[in-house]
Amino acid sequence: MFDKILIANRGEIACRVIRTARKMGIRTVAVYSDADRNALHVTMADEAVNIGPAPSKESYLLAERVIDAAKKTGAQAVHPGYGFLSENAAFSEACKQNNIVFIGPPVAAIEAMGSKSAAKSIMEKAGVPLVPGYHGDEQSPAVLKKHADDMGYPVLLKATAGGGGKGMRQVWSSEEFDEALEAAKRESLSSFGDERMLVEKYLTQPRHVEIQVFCDQHGNGVYLFERDCSIQRRHQKIIEEAPAPGMNDTVRTAMGDAALLAASTINYEGAGTVEFLLDKDDTFYFMEMNTRLQVEHPVTEMITGQDLVEWQLRVAAGQTLPLSQDQLQINGHAFEARIYAEDPDNDFLPVTGTLSYLQPPEESTYVRVDTGVLQGDEVSVYYDPMIAKLIVWDENRDRALARLAQALTEYHISGMTTNVEFLYNLATSEPFRTADLDTGFIDKHRELIFHSNDKDSDLHLSLATLYLILQREQDATARASQSADPYSPWHAVNGWNNCGAKVHDYSLLLNGRNVTVVAEETAPQRFTVSTPGTDTPFHSQVSGTLDATDLHADIDGHRIHATVVTHNGVYSLFTQDAALQFSIIEPDCGDLDADTADGGLTAPMTGTIVTLPVEAGSPVSKDQPIVIMEAMKMEHTIRAPADGTVVEFYFQPGDLVDGGAELVNFEAAIADSE
Ligand code: ADP
Repeated sequence: MFDKILIANRGEIACRVIRTARKMGIRTVAVYSDADRNALHVTMADEAVNIGPAPSKESYLLAERVIDAAKKTGAQAVHPGYGFLSENAAFSEACKQNNIVFIGPPVAAIEAMGSKSAAKSIMEKAGVPLVPGYHGDEQSPAVLKKHADDMGYPVLLKATAGGGGKGMRQVWSSEEFDEALEAAKRESLSSFGDERMLVEKYLTQPRHVEIQVFCDQHGNGVYLFERDCSIQRRHQKIIEEAPAPGMNDTVRTAMGDAALLAASTINYEGAGTVEFLLDKDDTFYFMEMNTRLQVEHPVTEMITGQDLVEWQLRVAAGQTLPLSQDQLQINGHAFEARIYAEDPDNDFLPVTGTLSYLQPPEESTYVRVDTGVLQGDEVSVYYDPMIAKLIVWDENRDRALARLAQALTEYHISGMTTNVEFLYNLATSEPFRTADLDTGFIDKHRELIFHSNDKDSDLHLSLATLYLILQREQDATARASQSADPYSPWHAVNGWNNCGAKVHDYSLLLNGRNVTVVAEETAPQRFTVSTPGTDTPFHSQVSGTLDATDLHADIDGHRIHATVVTHNGVYSLFTQDAALQFSIIEPDCGDLDADTADGGLTAPMTGTIVTLPVEAGSPVSKDQPIVIMEAMKMEHTIRAPADGTVVEFYFQPGDLVDGGAELVNFEAAIADSE
């Protein structure tokens, strides 16, 4: 076994690998970019080497820097994690040349699966069933379109070098084909330096089911069952589970055998995942094989009781697989929910910011949190915006799902928009509970899962108001204690005024709702909270105490504990089963909506301008693309909000723009009045 390994990655996966290495008595070396100087993976490792500036192209993706770091520290092997260099055959080859073990499959196996189209040809020959489509070398737009037209729409364009959903476009009709092809090629070129495409029949309601395989250097291979990864947005997974609900043994065995066939066809070694689309009638089709550890590997670990990173290290060190197929069993059910800094209400666009407050649920036999960040860390534009993976396990799906819902309510994050509430709504929806899964789940159940949880909005309003009163009182007490005249009525905040009434009022923005609330002190430290002048006015009796961020409240006799944190004037309040955000609206800022009329002509996130498809000064029609931006490797198209003219662009291709920055001067055409 190795004495020392280097982890050529960052974030949660680097931390995850370090944990297992430590358990096995192996020392670890981290690598880091300038942006990650103080990152968790750096502090966790025994040693760490700086490999360059923040952009991954100048650090984590530079094979020679990683190899130099391994040589310098005497690491005998490199674990590539996922992403970055993990499926880069040249990197694996360079490790070999330098007598460093690459903890992953042989170079030839990476190469065989590196191109989605080449992989398909290999699998076709081996007799593994494929999604119908075209994966040939002829790449002219006319030929690709002809294949799509012949196959019939919808089709899916995929980058042959693809991964992470980049360079992928659904096309619903022949008319849309050219624009979609151009966008997909551009995204693929910028992400992978390769613009070749394949065209597949787009299956409308498949499930994504994948098999975890493991092979050693001695010809042994096993599969560690399946994961259902059907819950996706933008064709990328957000909740995964194992085993796949409703999977019967016949399909499981057939899929497992097909996956092992795929692995043995390319003389695979180490951990790999064979991805399939599973149709309603149990037919399954090979999609691709990922020649690395997957993000969602923990659900397999939870149901098999195995540590897959340990397996990887053993196999890479030349040992035989720890277990044979008949020693592997499924025990219980596990879910993984990916917690992202992203805005579900804005097409799941990644967001950036500082994790000003971060309180994950407590870990136990049932709950596991894989993360690479701590409170105070940045989610930056440079890397993937995943904050953590929340993994839960229990004896069966229902119980595991209850654990997931509970743990999500206990995941408290503030400082940026996250998908936690969205995941909670999804996980507690009826179709998810009954496992009515397919890859279109989110679109199909949009109405059910895109809502804010303000069923308890009155309760939340009372809590928010109580918090503000108590906080003001504490501030005033602190001020008074520093003052020459601590008894001056000007320090009082209990609503005292010249007329003697003890009233506080606040204009609040609470979970996106504008509301004026009045609190009257009816007895010392007891208040009646009400919302006069609203359609459904309410009254409640509130009292409580505040100790730093801990609010203990009594709302109409209902005792509740909440944690309240503030950042940049926004308060985040977390209770047992809800999270809400509120801020105080200053009286003189009534023009909040003034600049939203142009809808979408500002940058939706921090990113780079890729191209400006129209000339300044040219007329455009409604919905015509006018700016194409890229952030975190995803393209985003900004379209004309109406027929009109692009008078001027404020930025040029290549410029980095801040989220919210105005991009163009757009003049809408004035409609002809008869
Ligand atoms: P990537 O490697 O970029 O993540 P994949 O080939 O793994 O892309 O596909 C990602 C997801 O896109 C799949 O999980 C599935 O939901 C969807 N998908 C891929 N191919 C098809 C298809 N032919 N029909 C329907 N959905 C598909």
